[in-house]
Amino acid sequence: MDHGFDVDLAVIGSGPGGQKAAIMAAKLGHRVCVIDRLHMVGGVCVNTGTIPSKTLREAVVYLTGMQMRDLYGASYRVKSDITIGDLLARLQHVIGRETEVVRAQLLRNHIELIGGMAAFTDPHTLSVEVDGGTQHRTVTAAKIVIATGTTPARPPHIEFDGTRILDSDQILTLDHVPDSLVVVGAGVIGVEYASIFAALGTRVTLVEKRPRMLEFCDPELIESLKFHLRDQGMSFRFGEEVASVASSGHGTITTLASGKKIAAEVVMYSAGRQGATARLDLPKAGLTADDRGRLVVDENYRTAVEHVYAVGDVIGFPALAATSMDQGRLAASHAFDEPANELRDLQPIGIYTIPELSYCGRTEEDLTSEAVPFEVGISRYRELARGQIVGDPYGMLKLIVHSETRHLLGVHVFGTSATELVHIGQAIMGCGGTIDYLVDTVLNYPTLSEAYKVAALDATNKMRAVDRLTSVIGVD
Ligand SMILES: Cc1cc2nc3c(=O)[nH]c(=O)nc-3n(C[C@H](O)[C@H](O)[C@H](O)COP(=O)(O)OP(=O)(O)OC[C@H]3O[C@@H](n4cnc5c(N)ncnc54)[C@H](O)[C@@H]3O)c2cc1C
Repeated sequence: MDHGFDVDLAVIGSGPGGQKAAIMAAKLGHRVCVIDRLHMVGGVCVNTGTIPSKTLREAVVYLTGMQMRDLYGASYRVKSDITIGDLLARLQHVIGRETEVVRAQLLRNHIELIGGMAAFTDPHTLSVEVDGGTQHRTVTAAKIVIATGTTPARPPHIEFDGTRILDSDQILTLDHVPDSLVVVGAGVIGVEYASIFAALGTRVTLVEKRPRMLEFCDPELIESLKFHLRDQGMSFRFGEEVASVASSGHGTITTLASGKKIAAEVVMYSAGRQGATARLDLPKAGLTADDRGRLVVDENYRTAVEHVYAVGDVIGFPALAATSMDQGRLAASHAFDEPANELRDLQPIGIYTIPELSYCGRTEEDLTSEAVPFEVGISRYRELARGQIVGDPYGMLKLIVHSETRHLLGVHVFGTSATELVHIGQAIMGCGGTIDYLVDTVLNYPTLSEAYKVAALDATNKMRAVDRLTSVIGVD
């Protein structure tokens, strides 16, 4: 493909969506470039979002020794005085390695990496402010993928100072572990960071204007999570809005609309994210973003302009690294007429709190509101040999099964390896499987996967009891 353009595909943003779009196009034999600031190679995902937060979590779980306390006693710690240096060392190591992997993949596929920020000058031309800001380079492209992701949304009445009042990107620049922390916003990012700091011994207050947190998850799992977080000294303020945050060198005071005041060393805002489109000069491409900076696309990730695609967080929900990658691959496939299947609807949700939780498929609340008859099977880790071995007495796995067809409709997991285990249920549901598959299948022992078998037997026993009594009593 050569219509006089510099490249066949220019990708703006090197996060998961941009990377996979670029690689797919290169695999199809096209000339591709990716534009991003060199210190952001790998995107928000590698540098400020997914990878740093998950690495921090892993470091905290390891260094605090909290996973082993059930086995070795409540005072067990791998390191007694955990410094920010201990945590950042692991963070920098992982980020460095991940960045190298991204660069090597681009290089291997002959994709040019242009360091800088891109803006449209016309629908096929990008002007790149090359890193350093003194030079501009122009790139023309037959097709363009916008994968610029998001930046943290900042309420205008809050004065972010980068040391006492931070957004979720800035939390990674803390120079010490704070004694106390207010987290504003109990979305996934807010709760994940709140749980990480609570595990480190920070007194955390989580403020959320809605009456519940993570309301899209199974309420029973969220209750278990809240129990654990409270046990680690976390306080919750639900149904409360922040009126103001004041800070000085001594600390911060967060004043709630209800009049309450919370004193803390640091405040972290996690109040949603804004599509990173402000610097793209979209009107020059014939595009506009919505009031949250996001772009609208069709089922093939194509924007209102035929040759311009958008993928990843910049198009909004579900705003996950996992989905962004597939969107990038599919957008490039469509742009270059490569047949590809649509993504399946059944997608897992993973929440990397300490302890973690994950689910896939339907919730009890959904099914009840739709009057779908179901049965629930539960397995608790404390009844599994592997649960004892890994020292997780609180984990649980819940299966939701259609009472008539016996199809698996949902799987909800709380505790060790929840985000891995969920994929077994996802695979069964994706293949239209029933609970009988699990009953009739031998699983490795001792494993946490055995929870599936135990929960399947639990659901089957309950269904059998209902069947037996229904016929004895003579209910329709
Ligand atoms: C704290 C946190 C934790 C998260 N945890 C998870 C998780 O556990 N699991 C999960 O699946 N997802 C998680 N996410 C979400 C995940 O990080 C995003 O879904 C994913 O990174 C989005 O990928 P993307 O392709 O949209 O690009 P992004 O990763 O958002 O990267 C966009 C890139 O575009 C670049 N860019 C922006 N404007 C321009 C421009 N004008 N010119 C050139 N380059 C530009 C930016 O520099 C950036 O590098 C988390 C996010 C955050 C913030």
